[in-house]
Amino acid sequence: MTQTASRPGAGAQQVPLPLDVEAIRADFPILSRTVRDGKRLVYLDSGATSQKPRQVLDAERWFYENVNAAPHRGAHQLAEEATGAYEEARAKIGAFIGAPENEIVFTRNTTEAINLVAYALSNAATAKEPEFRAHAVGQGDEIVVTEMEHHANLIPWQQLCERTGATLRWLGLTDDGRLDLSDLATVVNERTRLVAVTQQSNILGTINPIEKIVARAREVGALVLVDGAQSVPHQPIDVTALGADFLVFSGHKMLGPTGVGVLWGRYEVLDALPPFLTGGSMIEVVRMEGSTFMPPPQRFEAGIPMTAQVVGLGAAVDYLNALGMDKVEAHERALTGYALEKLAGIPGVTVIGPPDTVARGGAVSFTVEGIHPHDVGQVLDDLGIAVRVGHHCAWPVVRRYGVPATTRATFYVHTGYDDVDALADGIRAAQKFFGTV
Ligand code: PMP
Repeated sequence: MTQTASRPGAGAQQVPLPLDVEAIRADFPILSRTVRDGKRLVYLDSGATSQKPRQVLDAERWFYENVNAAPHRGAHQLAEEATGAYEEARAKIGAFIGAPENEIVFTRNTTEAINLVAYALSNAATAKEPEFRAHAVGQGDEIVVTEMEHHANLIPWQQLCERTGATLRWLGLTDDGRLDLSDLATVVNERTRLVAVTQQSNILGTINPIEKIVARAREVGALVLVDGAQSVPHQPIDVTALGADFLVFSGHKMLGPTGVGVLWGRYEVLDALPPFLTGGSMIEVVRMEGSTFMPPPQRFEAGIPMTAQVVGLGAAVDYLNALGMDKVEAHERALTGYALEKLAGIPGVTVIGPPDTVARGGAVSFTVEGIHPHDVGQVLDDLGIAVRVGHHCAWPVVRRYGVPATTRATFYVHTGYDDVDALADGIRAAQKFFGTV
């Protein structure tokens, strides 16, 4: 990690930011409120959930005020327009990741998208339709994850293994917060049915070399699921270039509403999977003796969907496209570099994760010597600074690095150098308060 000159953080460089932070802040109503007795809200918790620009709020309101109806049902004009708005958003969200609309399945969030795949794989083992058995998981099969997964990309695979008798294996981590791929060729082997890996760690910020994992998985015929919860909101993604079979992400982390997530799946893989949830909207023919199912994506969208939220997510995608995902990525890289230098200049602060901006996104986790992360968070909160503290739903990671928890700052399009300065000043205030300096 870069050490700085005599004054802590004095060497941190403020390169010009690619995004116009003041103009963007004006789009987010919540950023004009104050917290903790009139303090400016410094929101450094976008990794947990992002704030919403007015354009997204307006899109949801527009839907409810003008076209609200159940899509894919009913012959009236509202139903037709609601279906149009829902499907138009699907096409737009697909285009955002370079995918055709029939490969986009709407779920509640990343967690549900991963569970959908995990249940489809175990349902495949008992499917009566032979065409749904291609990806069945059972005894003797292996599922591979990594030690840096969010619980959402770990527990569903543990549970799949318990249901089916398959074995869970994982890739470990290096001391500097990267995936240890030294045993990739043995961990991913002929028994592997699926590799589930995060593209960007929510706790370490590490961006993983997905292409290496995909290349090995292809050699052994395993599927690859990429957890894009922390990558799709922050960098340009093209599923063709990614080369995986599934990509999952949450609308609420990319300026969109809560309650909507996305499962992208390669069409031929989705088409070979049985459903997870069943009921209305996903059937072809229903008889008392049994039913047949629609092709994807409808096969995986049982019940009335989260229509207004999907429309809101479409507006979020428009907003991000207007900013330019290249610029969003460069903006966060500049802020991350600045934050890493600032934190390096504070004695007693240790960053858990890669120390520079190489293959690293804007999630900066750290510990402060002699102060519990929850106490750091409390002092920051008193100053109006919202950060996340705890194990960040990635318990094996904090265990791996021998810390009880971390304090985590995450950045997004409205984050500026003033926010990072506030964080650094807040950490020094915590050190003063607890008498550790
Ligand atoms: N994966 C990663 C890497 C995450 O950061 C998160 C959310 N913190 C999730 C999965 C789960 O997302 P959600 O809670 O929206 O389902």
